[in-house]
This record gives sequence, C-alpha cells and structure tokens, in this order.
Amino acid sequence: MPMLRRSAQALPTDARRTAGLDTLARDCADRLRAIAARQPRAADDWSIAWTGCGCELCATLETFLGSRSRQVLEWPLAKDGRRHVHTKIDSAGLPVHHQTRRQGRPYTLVLTKTEQLFIREQSARGQAEADLTWLTSAWNA
Ligand SMILES: [Zn+2]
Repeated sequence: MPMLRRSAQALPTDARRTAGLDTLARDCADRLRAIAARQPRAADDWSIAWTGCGCELCATLETFLGSRSRQVLEWPLAKDGRRHVHTKIDSAGLPVHHQTRRQGRPYTLVLTKTEQLFIREQSARGQAEADLTWLTSAWNA
C-alpha cells in the first residue's frame, strides 16, 4: 500500500501500467475486500487461532487459546515451563496478559486474554476499508 500510494502521486497512468502496478493494485484490492468481508467477531468469541512448537505445554496453551469461552487460565507451572509459555506468547504477539502468581509450589502462571483481540481485528477491518476506498478511486481497482 505505501508503494502504491507513492507511485499514484509520482507516476503517470501509463507508466504505472507498464510497471505492472495496476495488477498489483487489483491484487491488493482483492485481499482487502476479503478482510473487509470477514464476519465481525462475535462479542463472546474469545478464541485465538495459534499453533505452538508441538510440545505438551504448547498443546495446553493452544487448547486454552482456541476456547471461545475461556478468558483466564490459572496454570501451576515450574520456571522453565513459564519461560517457554512467556516466550511463545510474546514472540507471536498474542493478545494475552501473563503474570506469575508467586504463591505455592510451583508458582501459578495466570494467563488472561485481553480486549486487544477485538480491537486489533476492528482496526484491521477499518484500515482495509479505508485502503480499499482509496485504491478504488486512485487506481480504479
Ligand atoms: Zn512448546
């Protein structure tokens, strides 16, 4: 999109066509239409699609994330396990808050899905709609 925006200003129409940018613009428009056409997430749908490394911990995390109704997981877990789960959540940028409750043995890892799950999808849809409107007018895509 940034490149299409720049070239729409900088290049005349025939140069854009020769460079194949009109094809790229149509392809972008198709992708954006698909994003804009997605069913909005239901207000009670907390499921997050995610796949881990295949270990037992990731399997537990995957089940929790995939649940539509569960928002919180209290998980007694030793240090190495907590670190693995932290790393997975952070590297995937998952909308999940993680906190270690330092009571008992092992400590309990408390995972909480956050509203970011809904906010991100709404803003992605809003951005797609805005980009699509611009593409349609500037590129006739
Ligand atoms: Zn794993």
